[in-house]
Amino acid sequence: MKEYRKTTDYKKYHCEYIKNYNATIGIKKYISRYLARNAKHMGLIKILDCEICGNKAEMHHDDYNKPLDIKWLCRKHHLEIHKRKK
Ligand SMILES: [Zn+2]
Ligand SMILES: [Zn+2]
Repeated sequence: MKEYRKTTDYKKYHCEYIKNYNATIGIKKYISRYLARNAKHMGLIKILDCEICGNKAEMHHDDYNKPLDIKWLCRKHHLEIHKRKK
């Protein structure tokens, strides 16, 4: 009976941890996008074409801790870079 309790507690703790972790990532992502969008409006960021193929691009963040460190990638290459990371 004691063993069982231990595992549930651990699971609960682990769940909370994951939830908080995801929330932090989510907030960082949100802030990065928000800042980047504002910077774009203020003319701080130049809209460029895809670095790889030169097609119409969207913003990509390599590191959400650096909101203004932006890469420009088209939909296809953007998805590719995200897939490669995992
Ligand atoms: Zn591309
Ligand atoms: Zn991206």
